[in-house]
This record gives sequence, structure tokens and C-alpha cells, in this order.
Amino acid sequence: MTLKFSIFRGSLMNLYEYEGRLLFKKYRIPVPSGGVASSPREAKKIAEKLKSPYVIKAQVLVGGRGKAGGVQFAESLEEVEKAAEKILDMTIKGFKVEKVLVAEKVDIERESYVGFILNRGDRTIDFLTSPLGGVDIEEIVRQYPESLLRQQIDPLLGLQEFMVRKSFKHLNLSKEIYKDFRALIFSLYRLFIEYDCELAEINPLALSKEKMLVAIDSKVTIDDNSLYKHPDLLEFKNRRVESMSEIERKAELYGLNYVELEGYVGVLGNGAGLTMATMDLVSYYGGEPANFLDIGGGATREKVGSALSLLLENRKIKVIFINILGGITRCDEVAEGIVSALKKYGAKPVVVRMIGTREKEGRRILEKHDIHVLDSMEEAAKIAVELAKR
Ligand code: GDP
Ligand code: MN
Repeated sequence: MTLKFSIFRGSLMNLYEYEGRLLFKKYRIPVPSGGVASSPREAKKIAEKLKSPYVIKAQVLVGGRGKAGGVQFAESLEEVEKAAEKILDMTIKGFKVEKVLVAEKVDIERESYVGFILNRGDRTIDFLTSPLGGVDIEEIVRQYPESLLRQQIDPLLGLQEFMVRKSFKHLNLSKEIYKDFRALIFSLYRLFIEYDCELAEINPLALSKEKMLVAIDSKVTIDDNSLYKHPDLLEFKNRRVESMSEIERKAELYGLNYVELEGYVGVLGNGAGLTMATMDLVSYYGGEPANFLDIGGGATREKVGSALSLLLENRKIKVIFINILGGITRCDEVAEGIVSALKKYGAKPVVVRMIGTREKEGRRILEKHDIHVLDSMEEAAKIAVELAKR
């Protein structure tokens, strides 16, 4: 089966390109002049202060915008306005475009890839370099692995001079560029460390016809447990909260990981992995998940209750599928939460699969209220979908 929902990852915050650019600027990493707009008129206004030609780019949290038509070029202000109008009307890979970046188009001679990524497995920070800029890193790894130079940085020692030289050599750029390259790479590394990044990537890093290095795109992912340390990132986060739906905002308030989707089967799980697997099962059996909702580990009955209230109050949800793998999460605690939420917020059909810590006690509580508990998540998914279609 294909795993449709594996793009959700708990506790990471992806920055928009224009947000990443702000961090780049702060660290003196050169970016094309430009600004961000929410309407075609605003886009034109920004372009008025820039030199032609222009580039207009969709601001969405997925890669491959270029291929999806989300990156367009323009010569005149009228063209900028038109391109912005078109792009602001797009939905790219399921994400509605709300903003566009308008920037001066760089005359590019060569595109490279550089990035730092947290490698949890090896406890290193991996410094990646490839001369195949513009190609997604996933694709580089899959199709041209020999083009990728991976240097593993010991976090206690930090980025070393020789690594930067090796990276530079790998890109085969001319010597005059080295000073700029070195400064840029050390800046990007500093940003990575100081902002608690999981990923800080420039793809493409362009060498312009004027022999300048310019970050054409930014991709920065932050471990969001560290947001409290970074007021500017908190502001980015708050802006996101403003554009959230009522339910999403409530979830944020309760400290829940919630993403709204199109379907009608409510999903509640503990742990991002299990919750995604649950959503995948729902869609495997022909249903459509209405949401992603992860209550995390060790949730109290109150937290379970608040989580469930979000699904009970959502009118498009027909059935709720609760999938709990008890570890530090206690099944009896979850059961109490379910029972009281159903009393308080009104009932909907619920299908519960629950195993693990204090399972027997949990079952007893639910069965007293005529809620049957299943062992197999496949069976539970099937039943949930059948009920929803009835
Ligand atoms: P992505 O497709 O979402 O990664 O968006 P990018 O910002 O990386 O842009 C995709 C591609 O568009 C780049 O690899 C470039 O080839 C091209 N592109 C974007 N901006 C410029 C620019 O200012 N000048 C030129 N010549 N090409 C650009
Ligand atoms: Mn890119």
C-alpha cells in the first residue's frame, strides 16, 4: 500500500521560503532583492522597487514548485501582476497558495546544492554538497548518489575549514569565489546551530553571471521544541495560528498535533507514526481521513477529552477511529477521557483499538458504556470505514 500521509511529522516547523530568506539576510547570506505579497497589486508594488526581469514564486511548504508552475518569470510590471494572479489562484500538492515572493531574477551561470541536516542516527550534522543544484535532494540521493558529498560534522567540534574546502572542490568552482563561498557556508552553519535547525538548505545556490553567489531558494526546518528561544520564529508561528481554522487553533491551545483534511473518518492516535499508519489504513480500506490528531505520549484523560472534543464537534466527521498503543500512555486513562468526552460533547460512533498498558482496565471502562474494543487495527479500520459509509 502507498503511505499517503507520511508527510506529517510531529514537532517540526518548516519555514516558508520568505521566512528562511529573512534568516539568511540576518546571517548575511546573499539573497535576491524582493518581497512577499498576498495580492497581485501588492506584487506589482514590490516589483516597482526592483529591477526587471522578475521572478514570482508561490510560497508553499512543499518543494518542486518550479515543476508545478509555481515559479514564473516576468519582464514588465503588468506581467508580474498577471503571474502573481495566476499563482495566487493555485493549489500546489494540496496547499493553497496564499502568498508570493517577488524578486529580481538572477542571471544564473551555475546551480549547486548545499545544506546541513541533522543526522540523529549517527549523532552528527551532515554537510551535503552536490553540483546538481535545482534537483531535489531526495532525487539526488535516489538517482545521482555519486554526485553527493556527505561530510559528517561532530557537533562538539563543529564545521571544520577542511570540510568547506572539500565541498568547494566538489563543486569545482573557480578559485576567486572561495572567500565568498567560505563565508556563506560558515554563516549557514551558524544559522543551523543557533536556530536549532533540523535542516538548512540552499537549493539552488546560484553562481550568477557576475560571479556572485546567491541563495535562490531557502529551506529551513526547525525543531519546534526550541521555538521559545527564538522570538522571531514565534512570530512566524503566531502568523500561522492566525490563518488557522477554529479547530486548528483550539488544538494549538490544547497542545495537540492536529491537521485538518478533507475526509469524514476522524482519526485519533498516540504518536505521529501510529497516527499516520492509522490514516493510511483508513484510506487503504476505502475511507477518507478527516484529520491527523496525535495526542502524544502519556496523555491524561483531560487531554484525551479535549482531543476528542475537536472531532466530536466537527460536523463532517461521521465516525471516530481511536487507535492507542499503550506504553507510557495508559489505556484506562484514555478510556476515562473517551467516556467523559462522549457524555459532554455528544455522541458519534467510535471504533476503538487499544492495546498495552492497563488494557484490561481500559476495556472494562469502555465496555461498561457499550463501546467495543478491538485488538487488530486492520479490523478496526475496516469497521470504521464501513460505519462511515452506512
Ligand atoms: P523549487 O522548485 O520549489 O525548489 O523552487 P526554486 O526556488 O528552487 O526554483 C526552481 C528553479 O527555478 C530553480 O532551480 C531555477 O532553475 C529557477 N529559478 C528560480 N529563481 C530563479 C532566478 O532568479 N533566476 C533564474 N535564472 N532561475 C531561477
Ligand atoms: Mn529549490
